[in-house]
Amino acid sequence: MKVMKFGGTSVGSTDAIKQVVSIVEKAAQTSQVYVVVSAVGGVTNQLVSLSQKAAIRDKSYEEDIAQLKTQHLEIFEVLTGSTTDEFIDHIFTQLTEVCKGVFLLKELTERTKDYILSSGERLSSYMVNAYMEKQGLDVQLFDAREYIITDKKFGGANVIWQPTTQNFEALKENKKQVNLFPGFIASTLDKETATLGRGGSDYTASLIANLLKADELEIWTDVNGLMTADPRLVRQAKLLEHVSYEEALELSHFGAKVLYPPSIQPALDVNIPIAIRNTFDPGGPQTYVTKEWQDGQTIIRGISSIKDVALLTLTGPSMVGIPNFSARLFKALSDAKVNVILITQASSEHSICVGISQADVVLAQQAVDEEFHTEVMLRKIDPVKIETDLCIVALVGSNMRDHVGISGKMFSTLGTNGVSIKAIAQGSSERNISVVIAQNHLKKALNTLHESFFLSELKKINLFVVGVGNVGKAFLSQVRKQQAMLAKEFRVDIQVVGIANSKQCYFEEQGMDLTKWTELLKTGDACDIDGFIERMKALNLRNSVFIDITASKSISAVYQGLLESSISVVTPNKIAATREMEKYLSLKWATKKYGSQFLFETNVAAGLPVISTMNDLFKSGDKVNSIQAVLSGTLNYLFNNYDGTKPFSSIVKDAKALGLTEPDPRLDLSGEDVMRKLLILIRESGRKFEMDQIAQVSFLPEACEKAKDLDEFYDLLDANEAHFQQLYADANAEDAQLRVVASFKNGEAKVGLEKVQKSHPFYFLEGKDNIVLFYTERYDEQPLVVKGAGAGAAVTASGIFADVLRIANS
Ligand code: ADP
Ligand code: ASP
Ligand code: MG
Repeated sequence: MKVMKFGGTSVGSTDAIKQVVSIVEKAAQTSQVYVVVSAVGGVTNQLVSLSQKAAIRDKSYEEDIAQLKTQHLEIFEVLTGSTTDEFIDHIFTQLTEVCKGVFLLKELTERTKDYILSSGERLSSYMVNAYMEKQGLDVQLFDAREYIITDKKFGGANVIWQPTTQNFEALKENKKQVNLFPGFIASTLDKETATLGRGGSDYTASLIANLLKADELEIWTDVNGLMTADPRLVRQAKLLEHVSYEEALELSHFGAKVLYPPSIQPALDVNIPIAIRNTFDPGGPQTYVTKEWQDGQTIIRGISSIKDVALLTLTGPSMVGIPNFSARLFKALSDAKVNVILITQASSEHSICVGISQADVVLAQQAVDEEFHTEVMLRKIDPVKIETDLCIVALVGSNMRDHVGISGKMFSTLGTNGVSIKAIAQGSSERNISVVIAQNHLKKALNTLHESFFLSELKKINLFVVGVGNVGKAFLSQVRKQQAMLAKEFRVDIQVVGIANSKQCYFEEQGMDLTKWTELLKTGDACDIDGFIERMKALNLRNSVFIDITASKSISAVYQGLLESSISVVTPNKIAATREMEKYLSLKWATKKYGSQFLFETNVAAGLPVISTMNDLFKSGDKVNSIQAVLSGTLNYLFNNYDGTKPFSSIVKDAKALGLTEPDPRLDLSGEDVMRKLLILIRESGRKFEMDQIAQVSFLPEACEKAKDLDEFYDLLDANEAHFQQLYADANAEDAQLRVVASFKNGEAKVGLEKVQKSHPFYFLEGKDNIVLFYTERYDEQPLVVKGAGAGAAVTASGIFADVLRIANS
């Protein structure tokens, strides 16, 4: 014999009910079955809400009842063909009368509420029975209230085993093939209707399985079984095919709603296996729950969560001396019927903190204030402190007790995503570690923990890209081309969630289709940088990376706040790293404190690994003594291509058209861009340095530096063409090349135009090549050389991409 329980969604529509009946019919061919059904999905919640409305004299409860009646009659009609039914009428008449009483008295007791809620299961079981009879099944409908006897704790009554066992004895002789029970409902010894607590149909089924010694208990629901996390919050959640009773208990206790925690005990007591199965995928995989079962592989079996939690904290220096302090606290809470979900107490005993349901806050506060009234007056303890809008996240697994470092990994995973932990508790069974965090971080916390504990999963990186000019476009196209390969080979799932140009932005939480980002952006909303950041923060996704591909000062000003929100920043924009030393250090400090990263490899020599090489040298204990470099691809291009035959200005215009200059080429020509790069290198070598400490010898005639705008600048270049011809002729006469060289030696930095002879490594630099020579303690005679293309959209984009991958792999 087996017991099959069908939940709310499984009986939530006519199609679902038909599916249920066909599953039952098939099972009944090989064994006798006991079937337990929940109320039609959502009905119990609606009954709760309408009864509360009646209690506050909100007349709209009457419409709610009418609407519920229509809903049931519609289902009934499709199942049986009849448009009216005496029994259904009768239930709704009773419901209306009881609610009228509540309305008049303005009082809703737990007892009355249980009676109201019982309507849901009484109706659903009646309709399922009618359809089963119509289909010709050998079925009998029982009223659970005549069999399951409880105490008077309405709202979550406890079964009294002796009379209940006796009642079920009689059923052992019953030979019907299908025996149908409404779940959730029961009655007290004096025959008052009671319920077994929300989700209690699971308990009804487990109880029947226990009393009738079933071979198996099947819980049929709308998912394939217990999963590694709530599939509504974690898309990557995976089915657990086999778990122990203890693990199932722990997972469900901490929020895996698929199984009502108390329902495990009756099955466990007589060792009946539980199968959790999907009504809408009956042949699909399922979860099997049995006695202790060691997986041996995964340490963590699942991650569950409880929403709407509040923390109640009592602190005070004299708490140590108050006898029975904890006992009094828990007694006060239990007398007020406040359920304690989690407890932590610091070993100093100066504070105790309990997690309770947010709905119980008022009750709990009253109870605790009353109990400790005197101590608070005498200032032995502080008034109780309540924090709300929290949730609990728990890691569950039997193998956890044999492993060290799990909590450390949990805390650091949460920390690097900016989730701060308010309280921690480890169950004495060592089967779970729970943390209390802010509810708005729940989804992010679950997903990031899921990624870090279920290693086979993909690590998701969420990108927010601002600036879609040449480099931005190249970057998006590189990401698009690599996405699939990175997911397959390197287990990182890089998604672009937000993009923006200076006017519009577009967001897609799961990541956008990069083959059509241009069209998507056009459909986006008007927004400025503040709007963009607001939306990015509201999404609050794990592993968020902000990518600034603009040259904008105002955008660089937002990095500090982002890094402090644990959002990493990647950028080719040099402004932030070249502002005052104090501000640069403050950005670095934020990354350390908030676990974020600030990467700007492309600030110097585009995609060439210059900064990362220097960081590696620094970290491995080497010291950079001097730097000599040609750092402007633009200026190289100009001097490699200028030979006096075409005016200097036209070479500058060519370079701009090729995307080789800053948006304003004057930044390149003035040498300022090179100075910024040198400053960054000096700073990254571990020194404090400011822009005004760099000596600059300009090669531009003074008049050109005073140009008001770009057009005037070009005119002035033409007016001074002779100056450039002279520079070229002088170099040519010595068979030398012109290079703008940046150098740092003995604590002094300078940037200026130099004539470079054939014997020097700077002589042979093609097109837009950059070159950097590092002289260090280890590379003291022959420098460490990094050389290659130092400008251009594609190489800059690939440098940005490399920074993103550094974050993905950290
Ligand atoms: P029923 O009405 O069938 O009793 P419930 O709504 O009570 O169904 O429970 C099933 C739901 O539990 C699923 O739809 C799923 O969203 C949720 N759930 C939460 N955590 C988990 C988990 N770890 N594994 C599976 N389902 C979960
Ligand atoms: N209908 C009840 C509820 O929604 C019992 C159940 O579905 O298990 O809580
Ligand atoms: Mg349920």
